Amino acid sequence: GLGLRQNAPPIQQQQRRLLNHFISKVPVEAQQQQQQQQDGSVAARRFTLAVKDNIATASPSTTTCASPFLTTYQSPFEATIITQLRARGAVLVGKTNLDEFGMGCHSIHSAFGPVSHNRGSDGVERSAGGSSGGSAVAVAEGDADVALGTDTGGSVRLPAAYTGVVGFKPSYGMLSRHGVVPYANSLDTVGLLAREVGPIKDLVIGDGLWAEHDPKDPTSLSAAARRRCAKDREGYGVPQQEEALSLNGIRFGIPLEYNIEELDPRIRDAWAAAAKLLQGLGARIVPVSLPSTRQALSTYYVIAPAEALSNLAKYDGIRYGSRREGSTEDSDGDGGVLYAANRGRGFGEEVKRRILLGSYTLSSEAMDNYFLKAQAVRRLVRRDFDRVFRLENPLVHEAELSFDLSDLPDSVAMENKFGPTEVDFLLCPTAPTLAPRLEDVLSQTSAVDAYMNDVFTVPASLAGLPAISIPMPVVASSGAAAAAAGGAEEDTAGLQLIGQLWDDARLLSVADALS
Ligand code: GLN
Repeated sequence: GLGLRQNAPPIQQQQRRLLNHFISKVPVEAQQQQQQQQDGSVAARRFTLAVKDNIATASPSTTTCASPFLTTYQSPFEATIITQLRARGAVLVGKTNLDEFGMGCHSIHSAFGPVSHNRGSDGVERSAGGSSGGSAVAVAEGDADVALGTDTGGSVRLPAAYTGVVGFKPSYGMLSRHGVVPYANSLDTVGLLAREVGPIKDLVIGDGLWAEHDPKDPTSLSAAARRRCAKDREGYGVPQQEEALSLNGIRFGIPLEYNIEELDPRIRDAWAAAAKLLQGLGARIVPVSLPSTRQALSTYYVIAPAEALSNLAKYDGIRYGSRREGSTEDSDGDGGVLYAANRGRGFGEEVKRRILLGSYTLSSEAMDNYFLKAQAVRRLVRRDFDRVFRLENPLVHEAELSFDLSDLPDSVAMENKFGPTEVDFLLCPTAPTLAPRLEDVLSQTSAVDAYMNDVFTVPASLAGLPAISIPMPVVASSGAAAAAAGGAEEDTAGLQLIGQLWDDARLLSVADALS
């Protein structure tokens, strides 16, 4: 490593608070049973795995999505990704806490109570990020070597940034989502968290997870498309860990639109320091413009709730979810009263807010101004990325390239700022601030304040691109006093690297070398 990564010192056992990061744990005997079932070749590579509780594990373990609706739900089958990881040595240790159905930024909207962590230099309870906060804390605390999360708009990367671990969101369509409870189908991905990049890279690239098409997941890229994508990437060297690291010839783009006013100055400084470090290693740092970035956040919060709305329709307390006790069968027999009573009680506040948002933006008066405009801006976001990357997007169709600009809302910046810049990766922060205090986010009244945390993660989600958050050190606010006392106190923030579609292998290699 090159010293970019510097975790807060491990928390002493006695200082450890109730972090509430697991919803259920696999009993030790059952863990041993899992080990016995693994053959010798796998046993040598055994690792512990924590799984976000919106990813199906077979009964007797529960899959609750942290929803009041599903607190006792047992899935009849296991998600493909878990089967794949078991075959590679995973031993499941537990299911982790999250924002209900993956909707949230701080892992506080849970039927099981909020997740917290206290890895900052001041030991104060902080937001673990969301929605995969439980998974991030599980790896940060050493309760699991690797954890699975889901990343729809940043839910793996944001918790990684807030807790000082690594969080990887793969290209859309790469890892199977069969058995992953859907939130927004056009955005959902399964991501991995670990304390280092190495284990993630080994599993996804080394052990060939990236190549496996799953016929049970309609969004899993076909074998033929995978071959085509891989072929496009031939001849692009990946720096090997064994060799002395040289980033000669690798270009990193700094998206200027990410330098927002709300960015914590300590993160801005750390971002600049990371760029300088890369430069020292032979990389070229170039400014790039992604003009649609500013619209990406609102676009995401139109598209994601609209898709969520249809995914959540099945939770009626009749087919799925728990039924309200003592609820009256309705007299007209259409299920309306029962349905409303079950859903009124079965969903948490944030999920209800998303349902209302989605219902509004899809309603006949609002559809043209919201949902359709959002689809148009989404294409622009993707086009912004395709312009700056050296590699072509292997899945872009002609039709998308000749997209009609007159569809766009007036507020969208249209000028093509810098022309083709041809970078390999984009370098930016994962979130605009350090992990906020848990107390503050619990008392926060505005949902939009929470949504702001996603401003740097949603663009890659809208474009389906691979992205990773690795820890970068920042000087803590109490740093001056600490430095005077002889020890520089440091917290971590997340440094985000974004790659072109299906450039996951190179992205992981570069991240591995940097962390
Ligand atoms: N915070 C975002 C949301 O609430 C992202 C969630 C996610 O990626 N699952 O929608």
